[in-house]
Amino acid sequence: MPEREKLDADVLIVGAGPAGLACALHLARLIRRHNESGAKPELSAENIYVLEKARELGAHELSGAVMDPRGIAELVPDFAQAPPFDTPVIDDAVFFLKPERAYKLPITPPPLRNHGNYVISINKLVKWLGGLVEQAGVNVFTEFAGAQLIYEGDGIAGVITGDKGVDRSGKPKANFTPGYELRAKVTVLAEGPRGSLTKELVARKKLDGLNPQVYSIGVKELWEVPAGQVVPGFVAHTLGWPLDSSMYGGGWIYGLRENRVSLGLVTGLEYHNPRFDPREAFQEFKTHPLVRPILEGGHIIGYGAKTVPVGGWYSMPRTFVDGGLIVGDSASFLNSQRLKGIHLAIKTGMLAAETILEALRAGDASARTLAAFPRKVEQSWVAKELRGVRNFHQGFQHGLWRGLAHAAIQYVTGGRGLIDPMRMPAGYTEYHKLDGAGPAPPRMRGDGVLTFDRLTDIFYSGTRHTEDQPGHLLVADTNICVGRCVTEFGNPCQYFCPAAVYEMIEEKGVRRLKINASNCVHCKTCDVADPYQIITWVPPEGGGGPTYEGM
Ligand SMILES: Cc1cc2nc3c(=O)[nH]c(=O)nc-3n(C[C@H](O)[C@H](O)[C@H](O)COP(=O)(O)OP(=O)(O)OC[C@H]3O[C@@H](n4cnc5c(N)ncnc54)[C@H](O)[C@@H]3O)c2cc1C
Repeated sequence: MPEREKLDADVLIVGAGPAGLACALHLARLIRRHNESGAKPELSAENIYVLEKARELGAHELSGAVMDPRGIAELVPDFAQAPPFDTPVIDDAVFFLKPERAYKLPITPPPLRNHGNYVISINKLVKWLGGLVEQAGVNVFTEFAGAQLIYEGDGIAGVITGDKGVDRSGKPKANFTPGYELRAKVTVLAEGPRGSLTKELVARKKLDGLNPQVYSIGVKELWEVPAGQVVPGFVAHTLGWPLDSSMYGGGWIYGLRENRVSLGLVTGLEYHNPRFDPREAFQEFKTHPLVRPILEGGHIIGYGAKTVPVGGWYSMPRTFVDGGLIVGDSASFLNSQRLKGIHLAIKTGMLAAETILEALRAGDASARTLAAFPRKVEQSWVAKELRGVRNFHQGFQHGLWRGLAHAAIQYVTGGRGLIDPMRMPAGYTEYHKLDGAGPAPPRMRGDGVLTFDRLTDIFYSGTRHTEDQPGHLLVADTNICVGRCVTEFGNPCQYFCPAAVYEMIEEKGVRRLKINASNCVHCKTCDVADPYQIITWVPPEGGGGPTYEGM
């Protein structure tokens, strides 16, 4: 077996999303200013490493996205000249949907007003930011997943990247390359929602917030439609159908340039019916009289899905340990009332960079020094924004109408509402048992024009993995799947997974779980929504996964 190569960096950032890249760019610039001032020790941006598991920057990025420019304006003051910002919001609306009708709200509630924001492709944003990061001298490594944390003392000291060229039984193939041991003074976890390393660190070091993190799943398609059917910069949000009033979530329709439309459905992963299928609900959403005419005569160009951490302020884990920080979605910096996290990811990445510079200057990256990060968050607009919605998602745990009433009370009380802090259980505890419910309804096939089956959608996600590699969806006990889960919940993994990864099949009279790992779009829904919490998502070989071009 070849030896694992060891590399030392000052700072290692895991995840090249808005949070990780903002951290890298801001830190590289702070280091330049520090060196220009003649201060010691001399530092170098080349000693910042960024790891990204995708084939190329942005390929695993999926978002709506309407972006609040507050964060990017601080990071890149002339951002508005850059290509990702060519579509300012010009009009917005909110609709309440019944199966056959759409009721437009007479006024758009203030949190959903988007004037001054931009409709963007997060894939393009990340590619552009990544270019600035590389120009600043930072080393960015795509196709490298952080697979294991290196623990040292009470904290962390880097990561080991995934081995490459291992076959499905775990044996090295001819192209075997062992992962690198990357050690760093500070390791920043910027893995986005349900980060695999973050999850492990939070559990091992007991960093949990007051509430468990709760998630939604967003299922999205990108369409190209005939000219004139959508105005670039048009932003619509919907409530109601196809979700019932016990569920949290809603739809979106955003107009982009080149006659493109971003549309999707966000569903809270705390619904009760274990046979509910978020991807099929999104397919139904497209058939609504409000949506269908927008897509008429057009065609799909992209599909994807991803979880969104919606727990907010009270689900935030402790964000620092010896040698480590957690930023962006991984640390719950997302405003679920506005469904916006990009500006918070950027700002928390920047605040982490400022903390790290102080640690490097002092030669001390202990938790005592890195504790400056949450203090900086507290003093910034991030805390003000997130505290103002700190009980928002919890208010919906008894359904839409009570949730809206709570939201109104919270709005006038600055986030406090009726109960503060409002507690909430993890979403996977909320399934109702099937209790003899009849056979499952047939799966939706789609008409192939407006609505699609799973495999067609997966095709449009551009997902590719090396087939011959160890499974990256680890099921701790498949006896539960073929036993308890069949009768209690009817194997909800078959329904909540938006990529047909999980299938219950029968071979020679024996029922078993089949895992089609190569379909996985890295949304992490299985890790979040499995009722027994026996599924663990770990990164597959670096480079595998979706290709979210333009999403
Ligand atoms: C459906 C949907 C709609 C949304 N709509 C909006 C919107 O309209 N406006 C808005 O502001 N926000 C929106 N958001 C939220 C927004 O996208 C996130 O808040 C933002 O992307 C968070 O940035 P991040 O850098 O923390 O994480 P991410 O953007 O998720 O980036 C994390 C990166 O880390 C990589 N990674 C993860 N683990 C590893 C590992 N172990 N090793 C190496 N690489 C790793 C991932 O591949 C990814 O590239 C939406 C999100 C979703 C899912």
